[in-house]
Parts: sequence; C-alpha cells; structure tokens
Amino acid sequence: MSDGAISQTREPHAERDASSTTPVALSVKPHRRASSALSTSPPIMPDSGPLLDTYGRVHSDLRISITDRCNLRCVYCMSEDMQFQPREQLLSFDELERVARVARDLGVTSIRLTGGEPLVRRGVVELVARLAALDFEDIALTTNATRLAPLAAPLKAAGLTRVNISCDSLRPERFASIRRRGDLATVLAAMDEAESAGLSPLKVNVVLLRGINDDEILDFARFARETGRLVRFIEFMPLDAQGEWDRERLVPGREVFDVVNAAWRIEPIDEPGRVAPAERFRFADGRGEIGLISTVTEPFCGTCNRLRLTADGSIRNCLFSDDEHSLRRLLREGCEDADIERVLRRAVWAKFPGHAINEPEFLRPHRSMSMIGG
Ligand code: SAM
Ligand code: SF4
Repeated sequence: MSDGAISQTREPHAERDASSTTPVALSVKPHRRASSALSTSPPIMPDSGPLLDTYGRVHSDLRISITDRCNLRCVYCMSEDMQFQPREQLLSFDELERVARVARDLGVTSIRLTGGEPLVRRGVVELVARLAALDFEDIALTTNATRLAPLAAPLKAAGLTRVNISCDSLRPERFASIRRRGDLATVLAAMDEAESAGLSPLKVNVVLLRGINDDEILDFARFARETGRLVRFIEFMPLDAQGEWDRERLVPGREVFDVVNAAWRIEPIDEPGRVAPAERFRFADGRGEIGLISTVTEPFCGTCNRLRLTADGSIRNCLFSDDEHSLRRLLREGCEDADIERVLRRAVWAKFPGHAINEPEFLRPHRSMSMIGG
C-alpha cells in the first residue's frame, strides 16, 4: 500500500536536507519559547510511541476542518466569490472518525472541529457524539456562532467540551462590515446560550485590523472583565483568501498589552510547559483575563503540538506550510490503519521548526485559512 501522495507544491519555508533525517542548521531565528529538546531529537522516524517531530515536539492536538464552506465572508478570511470544494471531496463522518481513532491511538488527546464554519455541516451533533465515544480529553469547536444558539445544548449533550466564538466588533454596524454577513445580536445571544448549556468558560476570538477595529481593544477588555469570557486578541495572519495581508494592517500583541495594561493593570498567568498559542494575562484586581495570540510578531512554534486535517482529507503540519499529506485517496482505496498511522507520522516528522513569516524567504501558503481549517 502506498504511503499517500505527498504534495510539496513550492519551496519549503526553511532550509532542509531532504536526504537526511537528522536536523539541519536552521535558517530561521530561534523562537522565543524554543523547545529545549531541539538538540536531542532522534535521527530516525519512530514507528511507535507518540507523534514526534525531528525537533522533539510531541503532537497531541488534532484540528479537524469538517467543511471549507461558510455562511459569512469575513474580510480577513474569505473573498466574496470564494469557491468551495465539491462535496464528495469532503471526508465523510466514517472517514473522519477513523482518522481520529488512529490519531488517538498515537497519543492525540485534543480535537478541535473547525472550518470554514463547522456548524454549516449537516449532522455535526452526530459527529461530535461519535468522536466523544473515542474518549478524547477535550473536544472543542471554533465557530462564528451564527447557528450556535439552537445547537449549543445538543452539542454539549453529545460531548462537546468547549467552544470558541469569533466576534471582531461589539458595534453592530462594524461587526456587519467586517463579517460582511450575519449580525452581532445573534452572536451575543449564542454566547449566552453556550454558557447556559455549560460550554464554559467561553473563549471569544477577536482578530484586530489596523484602522478597522483597533479602537475596540478597551471595549473588548471591559467585555472580558464584565462577562468572565476569555477574550483572545489574534494578530492578522497572511492567510486571507484575497492575498491582501500586509504587516501594517496587523495589531501586535505587545501593543494590545500596553493599551489594556494602561487602563487596568494585567499580569501574566504562569503556565509552565504551556503549549496553547495564547499568552494569558489576568487583571490584577481579579476580574477576568485576556489572551494574546501573537502568531506573527512573537511566534510560538517552539512548543507547537498541532496537526491539521483539512476538509478534503489532507494532513497538514503547519498553517503556514504547503506540505500536505493526502489521506483521502488512501481511505477510499481501502487502506489499513497502519497506512493512516504512517501518513500521520511522516507529516509530523516533516514539520519545520517555525513558520518563518518574518524571514525574507517566506512565501504565503497557497491555501487560505478557511481552506486549511483555522
Ligand atoms: N468559522 C469559524 C470562525 O470564524 O470561528 C471557524 C473557522 S475560522 C477560519 C477560525 C479562526 O480563524 C477564527 O477565529 C477567525 O477569526 C480566524 N481567522 C480567519 N482568518 C484569519 C486571518 N487571516 N488571520 C488571523 N485569524 C484569522
Ligand atoms: Fe467564515 Fe470563520 Fe472565515 Fe469568517 S473567519 S469567513 S466565519 S470561516
């Protein structure tokens, strides 16, 4: 049985000696939280044990995109005329469940369902129940919340543990212009429903865009303080479908820290061994916390433990790498579980040390955020 097509459509974003399995000199700057295991990575890809890369990072978090479709068209994510995959190219629930089971047996403990908008996929509650039966520690979902309110309780009952809701403005007109469709009131109501259903603490994702919503940093900080919701400020990444990303348009996490800290003192929450991308800060007066996801200005690649399954069935080891390891063909040709395992291991083993967005050789990935699964 073949190992699955490995498509490398352009030069990788960090130099690497393809003939060797030993780590090579890195052409990217070391990351702020680089793993201390870098110098001890094993020379041969292991065929047992957890999903390990050549830099010693163990992968235990699988992000599954269950559709590339969406009912919104956020300006930083999709174009108005977005083209979607034919439905038959999406993995079926049987296929998704099978890949998740193999991943679980290799040490994956956390699943996040995303997209596109995961709640536009019919049967999502059934999918959550099927994944929950596999006994993951955590099954989370990232959503625009336009369809969440009636689904919150059924999703919780099916085994969903957490939900992240995207909301980039607390002003109705601005919300509508950033997301191009949908309305703020529906999203705020869905937040209440999610909490009532027990999907808490709720995380709220805010992508800040210079000159568009960067004047709402304090409004969102106040929202976090008043509601107890974990507001996470996300830097705009070069993953928009329109290709309009520009460094000048992102708002650095450091700036968000300074603005919030000047209004209400915030202090870092110490999390030894943290693998989550958000740096967390609590308000010193004990009222709530915020998170900063500074992917571009302060990369956290050194502790990355994530692996992605795209809606059309490819394993991707980094948002910013075009290396994709296709599983769909294998699954549909009647492969063994061992073949799926080999693709997962190879995908992780091929992972680069970091995304190198800040290096001159960086090339934007061919696929945008909603096609990969954010
Ligand atoms: N549709 C769902 C939603 O919006 O929450 C899930 C998929 S969306 C691609 C996942 C997350 O990626 C959202 O929080 C969204 O705001 C974020 N996102 C999308 N494009 C982005 C970009 N270019 N830079 C930073 N974050 C982005
Ligand atoms: Fe849809 Fe989420 Fe992308 Fe917005 S960020 S267009 S809601 S997939």
